[in-house]
Amino acid sequence: MSMLREPVGCVVDPVGGGLVGHSRRYEKKIRDLSGIYRDVAAFDACVKKVGDELAYYVEDFRQSEDAGDLIFGTTWMAPGRIGAEYFMTRGHIHANGNRPEIYYAQSGKGVMLMESPEGATRLVELAPQTLCYVPPYWIHRSVNTGSDPLVMVFCYPADAGQDYGIIAASNGMASLVVADPDGGWHTRPNPDYAPRSADSAQRIYNQAEGGK
Ligand code: MN
Repeated sequence: MSMLREPVGCVVDPVGGGLVGHSRRYEKKIRDLSGIYRDVAAFDACVKKVGDELAYYVEDFRQSEDAGDLIFGTTWMAPGRIGAEYFMTRGHIHANGNRPEIYYAQSGKGVMLMESPEGATRLVELAPQTLCYVPPYWIHRSVNTGSDPLVMVFCYPADAGQDYGIIAASNGMASLVVADPDGGWHTRPNPDYAPRSADSAQRIYNQAEGGK
């Protein structure tokens, strides 16, 4: 049995966000993102109006989920707001927590919102040609703070996995990215946030080598 896989080149559409030659695509409609916004009334009103519209889609290329392999692809995210919060991805931590990720912004403007297991917040502003490093163990979510689609290329270890439940378990991330009246944005504490206990933070580090 050959160890070899075939090399490929995949073309990125820097505006439309597609990856020509992708092996998988998934979409999130606005109605699929219930629970991630603090302003539930604004979310419900938005779903009534445009719930079937695309919030974001991902196209990726994955040959395997083997340790040492890579998965890469593109994310396209619509601009918009739910109350004061911007459109954003559901967000996750890697199930194998010590796996990092790289994002490279192609078009639009946004923020990579990151949170440590202990609840510290970090932001990296995203603009075309920004290369963002998400280190191991950071929960991450991208936020479209601009008025155009946000398009990014990403690459992560093929065995990283995603845990989407971690954010919901704390009633959201510790910090919200919200719009200013003047068109800018700022962060403020999430009033509903329930910090992880020291034990559950430690469990994230313990998962690094696949342990529980
Ligand atoms: Mn990730």
